[in-house]
Amino acid sequence: MGLEVKNLSYAYEKDKLVLDNISLTLEDGKCVGIIGKNGVGKTTLMKCIISLLKANRDTIFLDGKDITLMKAKDRAKLISYVPQSISLPDVSTFDAVLLGRLPYMKLEASQHDLEISEKIIKDLELEELAFRNVNELSGGQRQKVAIARALAQEPSLLYLDEPTSNLDLKNQIDAIKIIRRVAHEQNKLAIMNIQDINIALSYLDIVVILKDSKVLFSGRPAELTEEILKEAFGVSISIIEDQGKRIAYLNEEV
Ligand code: ADP
Repeated sequence: MGLEVKNLSYAYEKDKLVLDNISLTLEDGKCVGIIGKNGVGKTTLMKCIISLLKANRDTIFLDGKDITLMKAKDRAKLISYVPQSISLPDVSTFDAVLLGRLPYMKLEASQHDLEISEKIIKDLELEELAFRNVNELSGGQRQKVAIARALAQEPSLLYLDEPTSNLDLKNQIDAIKIIRRVAHEQNKLAIMNIQDINIALSYLDIVVILKDSKVLFSGRPAELTEEILKEAFGVSISIIEDQGKRIAYLNEEV
């Protein structure tokens, strides 16, 4: 199924809507990027969806269930969140991934918990790091471990806040490819707040653009036009086609 946001509004202060009657339908198996200018409400939307902020009931449904009514432990089985600044405990990669199974564990890890963690470590090619302490790993490797831990939760929805922000170019592309592969192969919905329009154009299945507290655009990157980008970001952005790829660049005088 997927995520359905229905007429979601949110205000931190009375009469100042940050999200104004937002409706969105996002299907499983897709890798989705939320973009838009700073302060437009990306983080607020994310926090409502992962229930860090309290949205009104009947506004956010995951696989047909109203997530605003769920208990935290039930929600943790459906939604994994990878924050922008990753904090991992002082343990091995394997144990860090296994910790993703916490919402399912009783007194100790079951055989199933161990098997899932092993499989994810293998899928994400982390085997060589499995018994290294996560705090000895590089930023890119730690990012991968955080994604692996989130996947160990076996969520329906994986929500990542700026997953490429601390990574070099190669690791940015690697991280996005892993997230996309997981979404496609395991039929999960992966949503990320992202700044880089070119990553969105080249690697994501769906782009959602927020503007003025509303959804300005929601669709495939191939449908994004220069006009929409100008409206969204208030600057002239050109898109060129090169070897089947679409590349956006800022078209302002320097
Ligand atoms: P983005 O993630 O797109 O940069 P945010 O969702 O963080 O945008 O912020 C959207 C708007 O809500 C901004 O105007 C911001 O100042 C305001 N805002 C964010 N957090 C709070 C808060 N805790 N209290 C009051 N206003 C907030």
